[in-house]
Amino acid sequence: MAGNVCAEEVNNTNVDTVTPVKSVNVEVNYEYTGDNAKVMPDFYIYSGEDKIEYNKELINSNSYVLTFNDTFSKEYNITAMTAGYVSQSQIILSDSIIFNLKASDAYKLGYDVTADADKILDFKTADDILVITSAGVPKYNSRTSEDAVEAIYNYQYKYGQSIPYNNVLMLRQTAVDNIDFAFIVKRGNELKAVIYEKASKTPVYVGTISENMTRVQWNNYFNSLSGENAWAFASLTNAWVAGASNIILQEAAFHGHVCEGTLGGYSIVQALLKYYSPVGASDYYDILGVPGGSDDDAVIYFLDATPGKIGDVGINMRLNGYIGFNTTSTGVSENMIGFIRWGASSGTLIIMEYNKSKITALFEKETGINPKSGSLEELKYNTWWVKNIKNNPEKMADIIYEFDNLTRAQYFELIGDGKTVEARGLDLDYILYLNLPKATRNSASGLDISLSDKQIEQIGVDATNLAISIFKNQKGIDITKDMVDLSVLTSAGYVYLGSSDTVLARNGINKVLGATLTSATLLPIHTPAYKPLWFAYVLRSPDSDILDTVFIKYNPDGTFFVGEFNGSNVADVGINSINNSATVKALSSKFAIDESFFGVQSIGNVWMSHPEFDQLLSFLFHSHACPGVQPGFFITDFIQENFPLGENESYKYIGSSIYCKDDSLIYLLGISPGMGDYFLQKLPGNETDSTYADGAKDEGVLIVWDSNLNIGRAVIITYTSAKLKKVAVNTQDANRHVQIQTYLDIYAKKDNSLVISKPTVESNEEKWITYEQYLELTSGSKDLNALSYLKGLPSVSKEDLLNSMKNNSESNSNSNTNTNSNSDSNANENSHSSANVNNVGVSSNYNNMPQSSSYDVGNSNDVLGSDSEVSEDEGKSYEVSKKSPAKSINPDYMPYVVIVILIVGILVGAGYMKHRK
Ligand SMILES: [Zn+2]
Ligand SMILES: [Zn+2]
Repeated sequence: MAGNVCAEEVNNTNVDTVTPVKSVNVEVNYEYTGDNAKVMPDFYIYSGEDKIEYNKELINSNSYVLTFNDTFSKEYNITAMTAGYVSQSQIILSDSIIFNLKASDAYKLGYDVTADADKILDFKTADDILVITSAGVPKYNSRTSEDAVEAIYNYQYKYGQSIPYNNVLMLRQTAVDNIDFAFIVKRGNELKAVIYEKASKTPVYVGTISENMTRVQWNNYFNSLSGENAWAFASLTNAWVAGASNIILQEAAFHGHVCEGTLGGYSIVQALLKYYSPVGASDYYDILGVPGGSDDDAVIYFLDATPGKIGDVGINMRLNGYIGFNTTSTGVSENMIGFIRWGASSGTLIIMEYNKSKITALFEKETGINPKSGSLEELKYNTWWVKNIKNNPEKMADIIYEFDNLTRAQYFELIGDGKTVEARGLDLDYILYLNLPKATRNSASGLDISLSDKQIEQIGVDATNLAISIFKNQKGIDITKDMVDLSVLTSAGYVYLGSSDTVLARNGINKVLGATLTSATLLPIHTPAYKPLWFAYVLRSPDSDILDTVFIKYNPDGTFFVGEFNGSNVADVGINSINNSATVKALSSKFAIDESFFGVQSIGNVWMSHPEFDQLLSFLFHSHACPGVQPGFFITDFIQENFPLGENESYKYIGSSIYCKDDSLIYLLGISPGMGDYFLQKLPGNETDSTYADGAKDEGVLIVWDSNLNIGRAVIITYTSAKLKKVAVNTQDANRHVQIQTYLDIYAKKDNSLVISKPTVESNEEKWITYEQYLELTSGSKDLNALSYLKGLPSVSKEDLLNSMKNNSESNSNSNTNTNSNSDSNANENSHSSANVNNVGVSSNYNNMPQSSSYDVGNSNDVLGSDSEVSEDEGKSYEVSKKSPAKSINPDYMPYVVIVILIVGILVGAGYMKHRK
């Protein structure tokens, strides 16, 4: 930002060589005076349309001298900016200016509750502090509430002391969720919490949150809260105290709480990466899951195998993805997960599980506690899990099947090709029918590095300082703290270095730059655990399309790789670069290496346009920005507006047409496979062509499920893409970029000349359904197509449906009873599950479903050491009539084109983006 303003053109022979220099004293006072010493303001100076480069000199904590060339000799406009505060502009009339910056509403909320909690808990005397909040995506005064979290980061409980960056956990939430905060201090054995709900600044609870509390205390805790996040707060806190690794806590915040499935999924991934680690650099994993077990969310999180990426990402390659619907009729259970490690031309198929009953029995034997008898028991069970997997992470996972030589055709039979082949998902009948040879496990891995928390944090510090020196030495750019236009994109927090997760590298970045997720200056890009640790420092400017970037990768030997392009370590990854295929090639192979370039350039370019916080989070979850993600924004808004949830209601969704938008949909609608409310069938393309709107897609079936009445309201969600004018660009990357920007404008209701028609969302075939019909909808058995199934159902009124159910159950003596009693909720009358909408009802009913007896889990009793074999008689005959495994596969598997606009060849200069500022 701060250019070198002193240098003069010495060899310039013109007389007029001395440019007058203007100096302005700027004082910035924050509404929260504590921030004067904590954050640094950033400034823009403009003369008319022209942005002026300036030099910033710090006088004391909140006053600066700004110096710049006074070439324009006219009016200058100066803007002061800091995350969480409302930007302010003034005309420079004298040589000193004072800004009194006002905090945003959400910032005030976050700051005030933090200060109040500090008063009650006395942070400075605590051994450790944890904050868990739902703030971020939920709207506060009709804006996303990330500033509330920014305030928590900034709050100093002692001069210069704030809560560590990783000790603030943001729960994944939707726009319409409540804003809650839990502040917890650990002091010796004491674990004390102060909890605020529904954006109130008055606590609803002050007291213990320890698993060692009495039942009376638990009931008091639970009754004091309105319920929604009681289990989230308690389970996260106790896992944190038990020593759960940072990456487990991060995943649990994504999933919504810590539970057996969270920990089981973690253990499964650890086993996978130990015994079936990637062989080639481009190997990736697809997941075959059965929604309903929380382990699905864990494996999706750790492997970055998101549902939206099981569709085709439209970039001539496949990426890690997840597919899963209810395939229990084929002999699998909810806590089984299949992994396809796909190499160049064949795959390895591993099926694992954590054996619930075996592990529960072990816990009961060791502790005498029945984990299902209440929430406090379940907390203790979690703690026991955490301790068990601490030094032996893969301990709780069983490998049930290990197959090799999966062909491409078989691979697409399992995950679907989106065109003609319908996905089978985790169809054990089919898998065993294939009679594949047994796979071979990795030989013991080479060096196993393990780094301390301090060392991991230091890597973040060192990489950042290296980037700062590169900007200075190669570009003369001063990088200072709290710059609004510098963002760090990184795989930190998702990837591992040996056996250490890298969450704390984010703390290192935060320490040096003050960067945070909530100010969009620290953007962790979802990355598979086995990928390298890298950092991309991206610098934008409001009047340019250039994104000056420094890319640094951490090498396992402790050195850094620094990306290089055209002899420089600072490369532009903006539109000019991505519109040139040779440049794209060079940047991906020599600059942002190891397949990181796509995420860096796409998210960097979208960040340049200041997207909404919730949209940015869904791009990060998806691991890149693409126009395929954006329909999820419109669909989520449509659902929340037209099908708001009432009491006892929750969303369930069965995806039929699968592409990137499924990731934004699940992220923003608050559903996921692990919560048992998102199912993914991936039907062939022609089966999702809409019968309701021309050129539209029937994306899937939404169900508003009433867990109290045990019925649901189901609709088909139909989406029509926007029609956009063709733009002449040279590369796919540039084309996607133009579309992303156009969709951002449409979403923000800004005019954009490329728009021919806007996207539309509608719902069709509204039907009331029973639980049995719900099970049909979510199952892949009987070759069921959720869309045509719903269309075929009769229309009955809610009253008629309830009456018929009543008559049925009376005449049928309970054969169809689906109790809503979650197994957790019996002993403690106020256990978490009675209030946790997502866990009530449907998903718990699965536990009561008879499992296929053809499948014998007995052979999985041994923990990993044993080789489990598929015995001959388990390979039972497969009914080919259902779906022919020999169905043809298109060998030139082409990505599904999400948006219909194509590129034509007339070259237009890069200036076309300029208007969008
Ligand atoms: Zn769970
Ligand atoms: Zn995508």
